[in-house]
Parts: sequence; structure tokens; C-alpha cells
Amino acid sequence: MRNGSIIVQKYGGSSVSTVDKLKQVARLVATRAREGHRMVVVVSAMGDATDELLAKAQAVAGEPDRRELDMLLSVGERISMSLLAMAIREEGLEAVSLTGSQSGIITTASHAQARIMEVRPFRVEDELDAGRVVIVAGYQGVSYKREVTTLGRGGSDTTAVALAAALSAEACEIYSDVEGVFTADPRVVPDATPLAELGYAEMQELAEAGAKVLNAQAVEFAKQKNIAIYARKTGSEGRGTVVRLNAPVAPSGVRGIAHERAVATVEASGVSLAQAREALDAMDALGATPRQLNLAGGCFSCVLGTEDLHEPRTLEARLEAILGPGVLSTGRGAVSLIGEGITRHAHVMRAALDAAAEVEAEVLGVATSSFRITLLVPSLRVEPLTRALHAAVGLGPVPALPVD
Ligand code: ASP
Ligand code: MG
Repeated sequence: MRNGSIIVQKYGGSSVSTVDKLKQVARLVATRAREGHRMVVVVSAMGDATDELLAKAQAVAGEPDRRELDMLLSVGERISMSLLAMAIREEGLEAVSLTGSQSGIITTASHAQARIMEVRPFRVEDELDAGRVVIVAGYQGVSYKREVTTLGRGGSDTTAVALAAALSAEACEIYSDVEGVFTADPRVVPDATPLAELGYAEMQELAEAGAKVLNAQAVEFAKQKNIAIYARKTGSEGRGTVVRLNAPVAPSGVRGIAHERAVATVEASGVSLAQAREALDAMDALGATPRQLNLAGGCFSCVLGTEDLHEPRTLEARLEAILGPGVLSTGRGAVSLIGEGITRHAHVMRAALDAAAEVEAEVLGVATSSFRITLLVPSLRVEPLTRALHAAVGLGPVPALPVD
């Protein structure tokens, strides 16, 4: 029994949002453990616990200190891990919960968006050897400076994949409240369909463009270590989505659509390389992720992911000091079409611009890579545009445009 293969599972916040759901997860884990697998279970905070903690911090200090924020936010996962360990013990199995630090998750020192540098899973292995189910608090680690860190929003997936790699697990299963990865967020596009298989690069692009179902850094890790990720719905019999090496490519060029409701943009002219570098350092230090950076003829432009930006006013002030007044704009969103070799299909770009015109979404910018076409639009047009694009590129029930 004890020498069975290691399975790493991760349960998202919605799967552990109530005590009853935690008990259901405990039963599911116990079943797999009784089949003879050695189980490592990574948990997210219960429901909206992280948002609630964040709101409390912001009520106390508009722009809270990032170290203290990490001390606070890491608590969410500690609540769910200990409760789940208790629930599994109620199922008659031995279980122990461990924090990120106790599990040997060593990270960089950058609070609120730390990256995992190394995993030293000795304690986890010892507990498994002792016949226990090991519950690990997701989304957190300890920096080489011995500070508690968090991995950025949605970071529990990363904990799971990193542990799966360090433990040479047989599988890494990520459970949430949706049946895997869809062609678009099914809460926004009711016609979205599930994808059975995806390659790492496409999944990483989807995640980086805002698809919440899997975390981008987790996919990057899985790609590096060649770990297959199974994204499934908690308690469902469905197969879900597997993200793995050499998955088939979409013939139409479009695999899926991802959206982000709130991004910021930075635009300035007459910018020197030294200024650009200073601006990028300021963004990095404050947790704003620069994407689609452009510097040509002194014109600087970039789109910023703001999920892990907790000090927007400080960032604005610093950027204005470096680049001049009024350089930061908010109230924008991005919709991205993802697929390997997408820009080779000219009709996709045309369909995208036509769809934007159709739903009266003012296109504030277009950016492309070999995997992605991104349209920048006002935040309020993000959802209608996502639905229109889904139909226009043939992912929805409307027939695809003719290929020319
Ligand atoms: N609880 C954290 C969040 O809400 C981490 C996670 O869910 O993966 O972002
Ligand atoms: Mg969460």
C-alpha cells in the first residue's frame, strides 16, 4: 500500500468553499488513498477567502506593506489545509497538513509575486513514508531570506505542479468547479466547449492572456519538467482536459479565447532606453507584469497585468516621475485569440476586427505573436467581444468564415 505511486491533487477555492465541500474532497482523497496511491493534496483558500483578506488589508492601509500582506494572505490556505487534514482523519486515514515553508517550497524574495526557485520536499516524503496523506497549503513558500511569500493570484496550481515534479509524481490533477479548459470562459461564453487536449505553449498563452482555469507559471513549470496536467471538475466523472507534450494542433489556427477585464497601459513618447529600463524596474518592484512591450523611435508602450499590483497609486506616481504625467491608463481590457501559428491565418485577424466593429468595441490596440492575437478594448466591451469572437472564428455554433 505505502509504496504506491504518488498522486498530487490540487483543489481550488470553489471546491473547498464550505465545510460540506471540504468533507466531499476528504472522501474523494480517501478513496484514492485506499486504492493504494500515496496522496499529496494542495489546497487553495476557502471560496473568496483571499479576496476577503485583501479587502481587510486595504481597509486598514490603502496600499498595505507587501511583506505584511503575504503574512496575511498565506493564512487563507492554512485554514483550508488544517480543516481538510481533520476531515481526512475523520475518514479513518492518517493525514497531516504542512505550510508551503514546511513543504520546502523555496521562492524568490519578491512579495506577492514570488517565483518558486527550488523544492526540497523532504518533510513531505517523510510523511508519505509514514503512511500519511499530506495536505499542503498552496500559493505560498518561504524566500531564501526566510520570509513567508505568496506566489501571485492563482498560485496554488504552481505549488501542485512544482511538488509533482519534485516528487516525480505519476500525475498532477487540478480540480476546480469547471470541467477542464474550455474554448473560452464558459461563464462568459455559454457556447464554449471543453478541450480534451492542449499543448503546453497554447495553455501557457491562454493562462497568460487571462484564462483563470490554470495558472501560467504552473504550466511553464509543467512544460519544463514534462509533467502532464489533468484539469478536471471536482466530483465529476468527466475526463476533463489534459495538458501535455505533443498535443494535436487546431487546424483552424484558433484553439481558444482568453480575456482580461482590467489591464493598464503605459504610453509615453521621447523615452530613452535608460528611462524605459527604470520604468520596467518600477513595474517589476510593485508586482505589475509588463506584457507586449514596445519601444520604437522613442515611443514606449506596454500593457500591464494588474492582478498582483497592490499599490496602484504608488506605481502611477513612480511612472509619472520617470516618463511624465498621464502615462498610465486604466479601464481597459484585453481579449486574446490563441492558437499555434495563429497569425499565418489572415482571415482570423480580419474576423477579429470585424467582430469588434460588430459589437462596437473600440479597438485601442492590437498585438500579435505566433501564438496570439490580442485586441485591447474598453473594459466594458470585453465580454461582448469575447462572445462575438468565439462565434466569428468558428469556435461557437456559427459556421466558420471561409478560409482564403
Ligand atoms: N487563494 C489564492 C487566490 O485566490 C491562490 C489560489 O487560489 O490558487 O489567488
Ligand atoms: Mg483562491
